[in-house]
Amino acid sequence: MRPGIYLDFNAGAPVRPEAVEAVTAAMAQVGNPSSVHGAGRAARALLESARTDVAALVGGPASTVVFTSGGTEANALAIESAVAAGSRRLIISAIEHDSVIEAARASGVVVDVLPVDRHGIADLDWLAARLSDHEPTDGRPFVALMAANNETGVIQPVLEASELVRAHNGWLHVDAVQAAGRLAMDSRSVQADTYAVSAHKLGGPQGVGALTFGPRASLVRRQHGGGQERGRRAGTENLPGIAGFAAAARAALRDRDDNRAWRDGAVADLKAGGAIVIGEAARRLDGTLCLAFPGFPAERQVMALDLAGVMVSAGAACSSGKVKASHVLLAMGLDDLAGCAIRVSGGWSTTAKDWAGFVEAWQAMTSSYTARRASAA
Ligand code: PLP
Repeated sequence: MRPGIYLDFNAGAPVRPEAVEAVTAAMAQVGNPSSVHGAGRAARALLESARTDVAALVGGPASTVVFTSGGTEANALAIESAVAAGSRRLIISAIEHDSVIEAARASGVVVDVLPVDRHGIADLDWLAARLSDHEPTDGRPFVALMAANNETGVIQPVLEASELVRAHNGWLHVDAVQAAGRLAMDSRSVQADTYAVSAHKLGGPQGVGALTFGPRASLVRRQHGGGQERGRRAGTENLPGIAGFAAAARAALRDRDDNRAWRDGAVADLKAGGAIVIGEAARRLDGTLCLAFPGFPAERQVMALDLAGVMVSAGAACSSGKVKASHVLLAMGLDDLAGCAIRVSGGWSTTAKDWAGFVEAWQAMTSSYTARRASAA
C-alpha cells in the first residue's frame, strides 16, 4: 500500500511494535495450553500471564476474563447469557454497534431502544422511567450502553446508568471496545455486569477480544467442546492473538497521546470551511472527530480523501464496503447530515502532521466540491 495518512483507528488501529513482537514470540512457542507436558505448561503460562494483563485493562480479576474472537463475540456472549439467565426484555441504546443491535434482535426477546439526545448522549430519564415500569415477569432488566460511540466518540454516562440499573437489580452490559485503553474507565469503575473489549482498536491484532463479568452475571457456554476458558468457550485458544492483545493492553495503559489537542486544533479551520462537528458539545474520545459537510455524500468524501492519500471512514464502515446513512446520526435527530458525515480517528501512532495533512486535503476537497456545485448551478 502506498504511504498515506491513516486516520481510521476506530475501524482498526495499526498494530503496535510491542504487539507484533509478542505475536511473533507466541507463534514460536510450541505446545497447546491444554497439554500437560512442559511445552503445554509453557503455553499455558503465557496464556495466563496475558489474561492478567487484559484483566488490568478491563479492571476485573483474571478469573473473569473470557477470551473471544473479538468485540462482536464478546457482545453476543453477554446478550445470550442475559437471555439464558431469564431476561425477557432487553434495553439497548439507539447508538450501539451493530454487533449489539443484531445480537439483541436475534435473541428472540423484546428489545426496547434507549434514545439519545441531539448531542448523542443516552437519555437517562427515559431509562429511569423504563426501569420503573419493568415487570418482574420479564426477568432481570438487561441494559446495553456503550462506553463511547464508535462514530462520534461521544462518551456515555455509564456510571449513572449503572446506578439506575443496579437499583432495579438489572444487568448492565458495557461495550467498551472503543474506550478500552483510551479512557480512564474500566468495568470496576462503572460497576458493569459484563464488559466487552477488542484488541484491534488499541493496537493489538484483529480477531481477538474479551468479555469480563461481575458477580451478578453468569455466562452461558457459548461454544461446546473442550473445557477451555473454564468451560465457557471451547476451542484451542488463539495464543498469538491473545499475547499480542496483552502487549497492546500494557502499552495502551502506559502511553498517552496528544490527539485531543491536535484534533481540537484542526476544528477551527474545518469549521471555517463549512464543516459541522457532530457531538461537539459532548465529552468525546480524544482522537475521534465526526464531521459533516452538508450535501456532500459521505462515501464520495471518503473516496476523494483516499485519492488524496488520507484514509478515514464514512460513519460506520460496514463489511460490504458500502455505506448506509448512519443510525447513530439518525438517532441524534440529524437526519439531514446522516448521509454526509465522515469519521476521522487517530490514536497511538498519529502525529500532528497527520491531522494537518487531513485538514489540507479536506479543504482542497470541499473547495473543489463547492466550485463544481457553483458552476453546475
Ligand atoms: N463494538 C464497537 C463499539 C465497535 O466499534 C466494534 C468494531 O468496530 C465492535 C464492537 C466489534 O468489534 P470486533 O471488530 O472486534 O468484532
